Amino acid sequence: MPELPEVETIRRQLSTSIVGLTITGVRASWEKSLTGQGISPTAAIHQEVVEVSRRGKVLLVHLSGDVSILVHLRMTGQLLLDPGRQGEGPLTRAVLSLSEGQLVFNDQRKFGRLVVMATSRIGDDALLARMGPEPLSEAFTVEGLRQAIGRHRTASIKAVLLDQSTVAGLGNIYVDEVLFVAGIHPATPCAALTKSRITKIAEAIRIVLTLAIARGGSTMRDYRDATGAHGTYLDVAHVFGRTGQPCRACGSQIVKERVAGRGTHVCRSCQPRRPNRRAKTPKATLPESRG
Ligand SMILES: [Zn+2]
Repeated sequence: MPELPEVETIRRQLSTSIVGLTITGVRASWEKSLTGQGISPTAAIHQEVVEVSRRGKVLLVHLSGDVSILVHLRMTGQLLLDPGRQGEGPLTRAVLSLSEGQLVFNDQRKFGRLVVMATSRIGDDALLARMGPEPLSEAFTVEGLRQAIGRHRTASIKAVLLDQSTVAGLGNIYVDEVLFVAGIHPATPCAALTKSRITKIAEAIRIVLTLAIARGGSTMRDYRDATGAHGTYLDVAHVFGRTGQPCRACGSQIVKERVAGRGTHVCRSCQPRRPNRRAKTPKATLPESRG
């Protein structure tokens, strides 16, 4: 499922390619894929694209005339820039025609949505209204993260980081990566986290997301950027998708556990289950054997 780095990659591509173009038509071959919230999806027609922004995992295409299109890619959604009007296929659920080319929305599982709504009403959107700070903005602070984590006691840190009200944009891939970089086991209860460990988590979030954006995000199966290309973050991932392979830091085998109801990738040496203030950070290079 696309997370912040994947959606940010698409945002950057569309910002340089569709701003200034006009929507000339909208159509859906799967009705639920293109809907209106308060207004009809056809309100987008004849409006000019003025800005492409992002909030968490949601892409926002702002148009003239107080109209915006919220793009929720969800599980398998792909928003592809199709300059030649020939990029449609059997998985195409909706098409936004532009004054030059078109945007094709492909979505195998059909959970994704394009939602046309008034720009002035975006603040009322329930999902966006409860979203936490953008992790790469100044709104995201160690103190804010500490307060958000402090609202939980027994919940695992993984569950709390997956919650979009804690911080916007993290999903299963990057939470696993962040907790590896922070040297914290994903099942650690929030109450066990000291301020210095929360500081490490905040730093790890910035480090991992910045690298992931630089690599165009992660492609497991379905994710493609707006040009149809794969992201390459998983080529350098620490733990995600590396079950059974050696930890790049210590050589121990990466294992898959179930935390917060999700398949979770862990190095048990670099991320000890019990908080141990003397535990080495993942920078350790000596192989460690665990019986
Ligand atoms: Zn390790």
